[in-house]
Amino acid sequence: MNLAEYIEGRKEAHLEELKELLRIPSVSAKREHKPDIEQAAKWVADKLRASGMKTVEIAPTNLHPLVYAESLEAPGKPTILFYGHYDVQPPEPLELWTSPAFEPAVRNGNLFGRGTADDKGQVHIHLKALESLRAVNGKLPVNVKVLIEGEEEVGSVSLWDYVKNNKAKLKADALVVSDTSMLGRGVPSITYGLRGLNYYQIEITGPSKDLHSGVYGGAVPNPLTVLCELFAKMHDKNFRVTVPGFYDDVRKLSAAERKALNALPWKAKDFKQTVGAPGYCGEKGFSVVERLWTLPGRSRKDSDTVKGLREVFNASGSGPGPRKNCEARRKARAHAVAQDRKLQVRSAEHGQALGRPVSCADLQEGNRRFGERFRQEGRVHSRRRVHPVRHADVRHV
Ligand SMILES: [Zn+2]
Repeated sequence: MNLAEYIEGRKEAHLEELKELLRIPSVSAKREHKPDIEQAAKWVADKLRASGMKTVEIAPTNLHPLVYAESLEAPGKPTILFYGHYDVQPPEPLELWTSPAFEPAVRNGNLFGRGTADDKGQVHIHLKALESLRAVNGKLPVNVKVLIEGEEEVGSVSLWDYVKNNKAKLKADALVVSDTSMLGRGVPSITYGLRGLNYYQIEITGPSKDLHSGVYGGAVPNPLTVLCELFAKMHDKNFRVTVPGFYDDVRKLSAAERKALNALPWKAKDFKQTVGAPGYCGEKGFSVVERLWTLPGRSRKDSDTVKGLREVFNASGSGPGPRKNCEARRKARAHAVAQDRKLQVRSAEHGQALGRPVSCADLQEGNRRFGERFRQEGRVHSRRRVHPVRHADVRHV
């Protein structure tokens, strides 16, 4: 039996297995989900063991455990380190789910459930790939190390410590990060760069007490208006960022890269439908794809698109529950009218941008292999381009 037949024959079983993982509410941001986090870590470790990995361990940390596994049975062959995470974002607001977040459901050929696309689905693909390769060939063709963490959605603090303390153990020739996506069904994609990020918390404080808009409005400056003016001035009418020095280290796009980007099977119609916005914006002289994946952008924390002003009140950003939301609104209202306003800018998270030249040999080779494999197995596609990142977050790299 060849690899494709093996995988195809287990399609349903693999799907049911993925649903098991999706049913575990491993929300890393909430203390009450600690047992679920432990369960998810154990689930991943059990599957790694079942896939034939020789060493499998659950490493405790100050917060959530990491799962590490290795199979070093291919002397002289390269070592590949796989990374993924088993934790998920909180599911709130619950009323926006068509089916419950932790009860996976298939609709129109798509699987819905918290973590399906970030990152349980991808982790599961790696687990099943390792299992399938070993089942069909009796062994893995290369040396493999796997590191699956449980804190990606809360800053990966323990991961940094673990990596620093286990440099020799994690040494590898290549790192495969699975916390990414494919451009579309049947379009194998390689993410070759990540935008960096700088988070700042900007707070404008005004009067010492809450002031009613009907009584004081019009005479006392409103910090919310001031904040909006501040943000509006951060780019000019062509959407070029006006912050001095902002573009100093931004790499220029080459003509070849622009050509490759604009030839991707990306459809403006689908994008428009997905975002549901009345129109696009972005820097003049660049296509939507270039704006999305290569140019500097600004966004509110944990949200790539600001839905409306209401979003300004969502202080925590990562899906606060109704009570937290109310608290944020109350605080925002308390600050809503300022007289001698104070501006405070706090620096929060930072991440280094990284990227490889699109023309480099290993990317081109990966690109070629992807194309061959997808054609060979009949899931194809004639287009198989390297795909640049659209994830604005580099914490997990
Ligand atoms: Zn992720």
